[in-house]
Amino acid sequence: RKLTQVLNVPFDAVTMKEAIARVKILLNTEGQHFICTPNPEIVMEAQKNQELMSILREADMVVPDGIGVVWASKYSSIRLKERVAGYDLTQNLFSELAGTDHTFYFFGGAPGVAAEAARRMTRKYPGLKIVGIHNGYFDGKEEKKIIHDIKKLSPSILLVGLGAPKQEKWIYENMRLFGARVSIGVGGSFDVMAG
Ligand code: UDP
Repeated sequence: RKLTQVLNVPFDAVTMKEAIARVKILLNTEGQHFICTPNPEIVMEAQKNQELMSILREADMVVPDGIGVVWASKYSSIRLKERVAGYDLTQNLFSELAGTDHTFYFFGGAPGVAAEAARRMTRKYPGLKIVGIHNGYFDGKEEKKIIHDIKKLSPSILLVGLGAPKQEKWIYENMRLFGARVSIGVGGSFDVMAG
């Protein structure tokens, strides 16, 4: 990995195309992997939140969701190449992986939002396989059921839209339990997909 630091947060200096290629490699690599797409607010939050900082430092790929982060790397020896926003990353992955055996699970958002997002995305990307959906509002008991559901459906990619940094913590704490090959924190992306 070619990494640069923005206020101690490591970012992968990749274009969108290279980010997609890296996800494909992770999909074919044993174990569970996770991707973070921090915006400037999250980079700032990580300055005072040690737990968030260590999660970002352990992620398998970190890409800048915001041109401000790209600008901040201007004086580093390794510059970030372009903005690789979480929403754009998901759209590119849908387009690349539609019609393949790779599957998605949408987790997060208000009740009904991920379901509407899934309907719209399958219409937009024919051949896209979304095997499961759950909204992002749950208690401890419901959470166990969600983890069990993800494990049973075994998606290639789990998209988690609980807002940052909640989604990053959730992925980090649970990824060995739910077992998806690649998890991505996507913030409010389901709201955008649902229109
Ligand atoms: N959300 C959720 N569960 C929660 C809190 C938030 O599913 O307990 C969802 C919320 O419905 C929204 C997303 O998380 O879809 C947060 O979106 P926002 O744009 O605020 O997050 P960001 O992109 O800034 O991380």
